Amino acid sequence: MASDADPDTTLWWLRRDRRLHDNPALVAAADADRLLPVSVFDPAHYGTAEYGGTNSFTYEKTGGRRTRFRIDSVADLRSRLRDRGSDLVVRTGDPASVLSTLADRVDADAVHVHTRPTPEERAVEERVEAALDAPLVRHWGHTLYHPADLPNGVSGVDDTYTPFRKSVESSASVRDPEPIPELPPRPSGVDPGVLPDAAALGVDTSPVDDRAALVFEGGETAALGRLDEYLWETDALREYKETRNGLLGRDYSSKFSPWLNEGCLSPRRVYAEIDEYEDRRVANDSTYWLRFELLWRDFFQFQFAKHGATFFTPGGIRHREIAWRDDPEAFERWRRGETGIPFVDAGMRELNATGYLSNRARQNVASFLANDLRIDWRTGAAYFETRLIDYDPASNYGNWAYVAGVGNDSRNRSFDVVWQAHRYDPDAEYVQRWVPELDGLSPEAAHEPWTLPDERRARLDYPAPMIDPETQYGD
Ligand SMILES: Cc1cc2nc3c(=O)[nH]c(=O)nc-3n(C[C@H](O)[C@H](O)[C@H](O)COP(=O)(O)OP(=O)(O)OC[C@H]3O[C@@H](n4cnc5c(N)ncnc54)[C@H](O)[C@@H]3O)c2cc1C
Repeated sequence: MASDADPDTTLWWLRRDRRLHDNPALVAAADADRLLPVSVFDPAHYGTAEYGGTNSFTYEKTGGRRTRFRIDSVADLRSRLRDRGSDLVVRTGDPASVLSTLADRVDADAVHVHTRPTPEERAVEERVEAALDAPLVRHWGHTLYHPADLPNGVSGVDDTYTPFRKSVESSASVRDPEPIPELPPRPSGVDPGVLPDAAALGVDTSPVDDRAALVFEGGETAALGRLDEYLWETDALREYKETRNGLLGRDYSSKFSPWLNEGCLSPRRVYAEIDEYEDRRVANDSTYWLRFELLWRDFFQFQFAKHGATFFTPGGIRHREIAWRDDPEAFERWRRGETGIPFVDAGMRELNATGYLSNRARQNVASFLANDLRIDWRTGAAYFETRLIDYDPASNYGNWAYVAGVGNDSRNRSFDVVWQAHRYDPDAEYVQRWVPELDGLSPEAAHEPWTLPDERRARLDYPAPMIDPETQYGD
């Protein structure tokens, strides 16, 4: 550490790591005499963007619900830092110019940040690094396993999940979460700034739909509250393996994803808490299964570290030649939840109304767009990118590519969405919750309204299916 005459000053550049617990970048940055935590809202992430190449299209990068969750997360972190005698400097602008100006102002010796494996995030890091006089020190802090602990390194990660899982389970271990460090004082003379103007960033201020599975509140405080609730208060983890394909309610799955992806919750913290739950309550298939699912998250992060931008190409990492269709009208019906296939429409309407969707419903709506309509899967993924409150580039594009058959599985992932509807929504409760036009119908008819007599069908204010289910899903 430097002498008093020349205090060692660091910047902690916050990205999607909006937490104090288990934060390697913060731990390193706090090993200084003065620490300036900085969060930058980049307006480029809130407007529309162009998705290039064949079938290029524009889309909105960050929808209003995720923006609101993010602003709340920053506000919560600022208040947690203030409670510990520090503060959070907030700016809106280009990260390269904001950070280099602040680093010069406080004469920073280093800027600490969490790196990400996805191309756009990496490009921002490189631009910031080029603009800084001080070194940019990268840390890794958003997965269970640290890349340095992978048995064959990132380049040796298998492209299919099971061998990857077996290799880490047998030959690597998850590091313990980092404790919250003592926070050094802030350098003087820097205005903390105000949170960005929510309206200018396009925050959705509409009330959350009262059919939402859970009202997601941004921030570390709410994240730790949900962790406590899901494991200890409700004991729901005990049955996770049996309930995880659910469609309705608060506790069929953990709902940790928005907090994990915005960095309010560390996966290693979840892992450590599962250890404790296993010691104090029960260790069973369900406790294992939550780790198993968190490992899927790791898998996609390391896949993007390995393959980079190839994931975003139409044929994906398999370089498959598929003649994806460009059909704006069909896409629009899918997007609005007006395909005439109730299970698909329920999913899209839930997504539109809440920003969240169960894994089962995500798989079905994605498969319908990519495998039944054969529309460029990336348009669907981009739509999810806008809408999801828990969006993460690797998890989203990785899962979409997987479902569309251009990702980490060579098998045909095409779903019979009508079969899925009967299997996972046997009483049609989910479909009728989100597609009220089908109220009063039997479960059979609610899932397959096209089988009703013409005269009954005509009285429904609901479209005919845009594909022929018999041809599409018949044996
Ligand atoms: C087309 C499609 C797009 C998706 N996009 C995203 C996305 O942008 N962000 C995202 O976090 N998840 C995405 N998922 C994965 C999964 O649907 C969500 O992680 C899950 O539904 C979140 O709810 P939960 O936290 O209650 O999950 P739980 O069932 O409680 O699982 C616990 C955690 O494990 C992780 N996880 C579980 N399944 C997966 C998976 N298939 N891939 C990666 N991680 C997983 C998540 O971090 C999740 O929070 C997508 C899945 C599909 C099929």
